[in-house]
Amino acid sequence: MSEWVESASDSALAASVIDRFRDQFGTDPEGVWAAPGRVNLIGEHVDYAQGLSLPIALPHSTVVAVGRRRDGMLRCGSGLGAWTGRVDEIAPGNPPDWAAYLAGVVWAMRRDGLLDSDFGGADVAVESSVPIGAGLSSSAALECALALALADLSGAPTDDAGRAALAACCVRAENDIALAPTGGMDQAVSLRAKDGHALLVDSRDGGVTPVPFELAGEGLALLVIDTRAPHRLVDGQYAQRRASVEEAAATLGASLREVADVSALSDPVLRGRARHVVSEIGRVREVLSLMGSGRYRELGPLLTASHVSLRDDYEVSCPELDCAVDSSLAAGAFGSRMTGGGFGGSAIALIDAGAAERVAAEVMAAARSRGLTEPRFLELLACAGPARHVSLTS
Ligand code: ADP
Ligand code: MG
Repeated sequence: MSEWVESASDSALAASVIDRFRDQFGTDPEGVWAAPGRVNLIGEHVDYAQGLSLPIALPHSTVVAVGRRRDGMLRCGSGLGAWTGRVDEIAPGNPPDWAAYLAGVVWAMRRDGLLDSDFGGADVAVESSVPIGAGLSSSAALECALALALADLSGAPTDDAGRAALAACCVRAENDIALAPTGGMDQAVSLRAKDGHALLVDSRDGGVTPVPFELAGEGLALLVIDTRAPHRLVDGQYAQRRASVEEAAATLGASLREVADVSALSDPVLRGRARHVVSEIGRVREVLSLMGSGRYRELGPLLTASHVSLRDDYEVSCPELDCAVDSSLAAGAFGSRMTGGGFGGSAIALIDAGAAERVAAEVMAAARSRGLTEPRFLELLACAGPARHVSLTS
């Protein structure tokens, strides 16, 4: 039997996070807020190249229960542990580990004047149905849930422009305090997605456009395959790819968004890196055009071409991702690709609704036969909505 990661309702997650809050802090929170994880349909490794990405919010969310304090302390509790520290002492690398994603949001929102001028700290409890570290952006879900909570409690704007400002804070929380590189797509979709729509994220100007994406009504589903590949030493790889993109743009004299031909790059590795970015942005445009005319099944070959480009030109795949892609295609998927940063994490396959169990069984069998870690699965039948306040009255 394949293992499935089920989403949980907001009310179920709220009930557990309120329990955690009461256990740890001995009082009731002022409210509960939820934010989704995401999968990127296409447009991978282009968000730091002024490119286009097309992520989808997951039905899987992270919730935070929050109460304000008056003593300048931030106290955090999650399934990963507890952390307490002074708001004034939040800095790059402090706190370490998971609490940095929360503390970083407080730090960035405070610097941007989005918190009450007399903000005196907070208690924050966390629960989640987003798999952690699976390339489905549990980190952005965590940041965005807290950012929306603090904005609501401080009376900061939470319309789309307000959410864009919050997303920018979440990116800085992750880059500057958690010291993890991230380009901004994850936070944009978690805060600004629209139900039933994928979100076109334009990293040149930060603009977002919801794009209707009908799955279930078209008889389709997205199978998300969390490879559970063991973490490898990939820290330097992301920075290297970013540096390559910058070098290629400098050599060509234009951002890769503007470039069509990369043949002027003499180094074959650099040329491959640039070719991925340029061709991937082109594939996003083709996907948008197919989606616009409801030809969803025809997205398949573009997804698979994206994988080949990420594997061969950008070199960010790994045996587990390649196995997931190859075996889901062999099982009849219309298309399949790694999604997220790569070197592990998840792949997606566009499949017939109703085929999820069968495709998952074949993907599982392929992983087993190659001696790879057994994957687990999420089934996506519709695009979910953005971060929200969870009403506790119903
Ligand atoms: P991804 O965003 O793909 O899940 P990351 O490595 O970017 O992977 O983020 C995962 C990290 O985010 C975790 O190691 C932890 O530090 C933090 N995190 C995410 N979700 C939670 C959670 N529910 N509770 C505590 N920490 C979390
Ligand atoms: Mg992340």
